Amino acid sequence: MHLIELYKSVQGESSFTGVPCIFVRLAGCNLRCAWCDSEYTFTGGKPYTADEIIAEIAALQPCPLIEFTGGEPMLQARELLPLMQCLLGAGYTLMMETSGERPLADVPKAVHKIVDVKCPGAGAAANSFRMENLAALTMNDEVKFVLSDRADYEFARDFIRDHDLAAKCVNILLSPAFSKTPTDLRSTENATLDPRLVVEWMLADGLPARLSLQIHKYVWEPRKKGV
Ligand code: SF4
Repeated sequence: MHLIELYKSVQGESSFTGVPCIFVRLAGCNLRCAWCDSEYTFTGGKPYTADEIIAEIAALQPCPLIEFTGGEPMLQARELLPLMQCLLGAGYTLMMETSGERPLADVPKAVHKIVDVKCPGAGAAANSFRMENLAALTMNDEVKFVLSDRADYEFARDFIRDHDLAAKCVNILLSPAFSKTPTDLRSTENATLDPRLVVEWMLADGLPARLSLQIHKYVWEPRKKGV
């Protein structure tokens, strides 16, 4: 497998927000979201065997929560899925951040998937969500919409309602997009959509969703990597 980095921090998003977590960031992505904050994952990466990854995770114990992220982890599904089975068997709790564009049916059900549905503001990546992945969602899973503007919010709202998403996953995340050129201020001024607006819209519509701020961009300076 090709890895960009492996490190321990706290989980920045989802219902695990703030919980210590080991991040395994895989190289490569087949999408190009307009607001991507992980372009450094698109190329390169260091080759690792599954045993080497397991050893690195063991060296960072105690920390039972592991997230696979990227890039797009499912581009390396052939090696990733057996590694997940092995880590689940060893008692770890696993998460995976995925764009929702690759097939997810073969991911072990115990893995907490955080599945993006790309909104129009994602630019070239808009409409990339693979609709059959709705059937692969479990009540371990969370669905995330990154919002750039009101049009993105309305897309998310309609998608949530049209597909009865609240009945298909445990948590629906609405995440204001973040500037690609943030200041060093740990401030919502770096969000390209004011979180307060998202809250007002959610409440007005009675939407069964959760505001999601990426807390690592407030705990540390927003451009800091490996946190
Ligand atoms: S799917 Fe993720 S890594 Fe890929 S371009 Fe979009 S935000 Fe970046």
